[in-house]
Amino acid sequence: MPIPSVPNSRVVWLDGPSSVCPQPPELARPWRLILLGAPGVGKGTQANLLRERLGACHLSTGDVFRAASKADDCSPSSAMTAALDYMRRGALVPDLTVWEMVRERTQCLHCRSGFILDGFPRTLTQAESLRKLMQKEKVTLDAVVNYELPLGEIVEPLSDRRTCDKCKAVYHVTRQPSQTPGACDHCGGRLMQREDDRPESVTVRMETYERSTAPLINFYRKLGLLLPVTATGSPEEICARTVSALVACSSNSSKHVR
Ligand code: ADP
Ligand code: ZN
Repeated sequence: MPIPSVPNSRVVWLDGPSSVCPQPPELARPWRLILLGAPGVGKGTQANLLRERLGACHLSTGDVFRAASKADDCSPSSAMTAALDYMRRGALVPDLTVWEMVRERTQCLHCRSGFILDGFPRTLTQAESLRKLMQKEKVTLDAVVNYELPLGEIVEPLSDRRTCDKCKAVYHVTRQPSQTPGACDHCGGRLMQREDDRPESVTVRMETYERSTAPLINFYRKLGLLLPVTATGSPEEICARTVSALVACSSNSSKHVR
């Protein structure tokens, strides 16, 4: 039976703590996932495709910060102003600010259709906080997908990436162009370059990933949750590979008590 497609749920998280996710009419099973991978590996694209395939909500901390930077209806708090400054430079927003924002959205962990965390956690401190929160909320993770590129594989330049202004869909000038140049295939929104996709910010993001985020691979490996997926080929191929890996690991783990 095909998994029903759901409306773009990314917007719900952006709307803040009180909003409710759209529920798909039928569910195969909820998936609770974290996506890891270096900048440019295509995590955001995969999160979008997985959302369509699995029906789970796509939760991106980067999206929340970018939405806050565009919000013109109220003046941002000083913590948010500082956060946006880190973001523009490609540096990490301080853990405390990120955590405040995530904790406000605790209800999302209970989404009936599951969730896909993209861009969070990004430090060991964040991962520990999430683990404690999930324990308290009695929610368990199914897997942490780590998108890997074989050594020598060249990452497409992030400067060729474009993002839809409205629905946040991700495109790539050569690898995944939209049908009409400059316009989103899904909603017709305008395709823009992110401020932190400029070369000087990209360098900082790469270094930050190596220093702060790569250690999470070991953290989740030790917890028995790491699911490595090779990130080569078309986005659809990578997505299909991810879904097969998830299905294989869930049928294996159902034989063990975790
Ligand atoms: P990327 O495309 O590099 O995965 P994201 O959209 O996830 O980028 O995040 C963009 C920026 O937002 C990051 O470079 C960082 O400044 C900030 N950010 C997002 N999530 C986090 C987080 N969990 N911790 C700290 N900073 C974050
Ligand atoms: Zn769009």
